[in-house]
Amino acid sequence: MIPYGRQDISEEDIRSVVEVLRSDWLTQGPAVERFEQEVARYCGAKYAVAVSSATAALHVACLAAGLKPGDALWTSPNTFVASANCGLYCGARPDFVDIDPRTYNLSVDALEEKLARAEKQGRLPRIVIPVHFAGQSCDMDAIAGLGKRYGFTVIEDASHAIGGRYRDTRVGSCAFSDMTVFSFHPVKIITTGEGGMVLTNRQDFYEKLVRLRSHGITRDPRFMEGESDGPWYYQQIELGFNYRITDIQAGLGASQMQRLDEFVARRRQLSDRYDSLLRDFPLTLPWRHPDAYSAVHLYVVRLRLDLIGKTHRQVFEELRQHGIGANLHYIPVHTQPYYQKMGFRKGDFPEAERYYGEAISLPLYPGLTENEQDYVVLTLRNIFQ
Ligand SMILES: *Cc1c(COP(=O)(O)O)cnc(C)c1O
Repeated sequence: MIPYGRQDISEEDIRSVVEVLRSDWLTQGPAVERFEQEVARYCGAKYAVAVSSATAALHVACLAAGLKPGDALWTSPNTFVASANCGLYCGARPDFVDIDPRTYNLSVDALEEKLARAEKQGRLPRIVIPVHFAGQSCDMDAIAGLGKRYGFTVIEDASHAIGGRYRDTRVGSCAFSDMTVFSFHPVKIITTGEGGMVLTNRQDFYEKLVRLRSHGITRDPRFMEGESDGPWYYQQIELGFNYRITDIQAGLGASQMQRLDEFVARRRQLSDRYDSLLRDFPLTLPWRHPDAYSAVHLYVVRLRLDLIGKTHRQVFEELRQHGIGANLHYIPVHTQPYYQKMGFRKGDFPEAERYYGEAISLPLYPGLTENEQDYVVLTLRNIFQ
């Protein structure tokens, strides 16, 4: 089976992990700090806080932004459930903004309309989470402008997008947002096995994120109530979690960072190659926004069902039968049973639902060979004949 995505682990990566295993620290030691500094420097952000997953990163980012029960959090329906669940963890109500039919990112026009309506009803969101779908940045300038006008915090879910750029900024710089979240799950651009990170330029967010990662505990006398009892002393000043990442994982992450640009270049090369090989197929190929340099986490095509005598599902099943691990990103979050029970309905976000009826993620990862890619293209050609 050719999977839709997979990690790329080098001997150097393995050496880096083994080095940590031989060291004095297995968790919350120097490798974590090194990894954080490496990512912050690369992205051009002041602060980075590594945690156990992007899901944990989204949770603590929402808490740091002050998300509370009764608040609203808006995101894209075309995302992994974690982008919305983080609102529920904080007792807030998630809601969605339909997608742009070209980029499959949250539509800025739809956002603007929904904000105008919400303002009249006094139900403005406290947080908006744009998701950089498939590695292509959302229109962050416009979203940041709306954030200022309507007073919401912007948290970028850049789980797909480390190594990408928006205009002349790196994704993760937080030039147009309050915080940015990365995922280091094995199918993502770089991996730590499991892992995530929050980047920010704000010191107050940074200090809060560090505490929330570890039980809400501080050892810094500046944040304590009263005097320190002595060198052993710490205080819990809020409710946090154990969301720490290990040094073992961070050792892998720091090593993977050395090849980030190479990974993205290879993904873009394979994606360009798909573009030219699939040019005449009954497919809508990915559209590239001129402001974005995509990290190309996913290569998504849409079936032109009017030109194909088969259903979406048939095409999918035939790909799988031929050993191609095609996938679908994403089932619109509001159509999940859990969200339906909260009152969302099919039909609420028609653009995301239409997209779901036609989209297929083809295999794309740095280790995919041109032979394998040719096989994917040939198989598709046969399916469409
Ligand atoms: C993978 C992913 C997440 C969750 O990442 P984990 O590190 O697995 O918790 C969140 N949002 C998006 C858009 C993702 O693709």
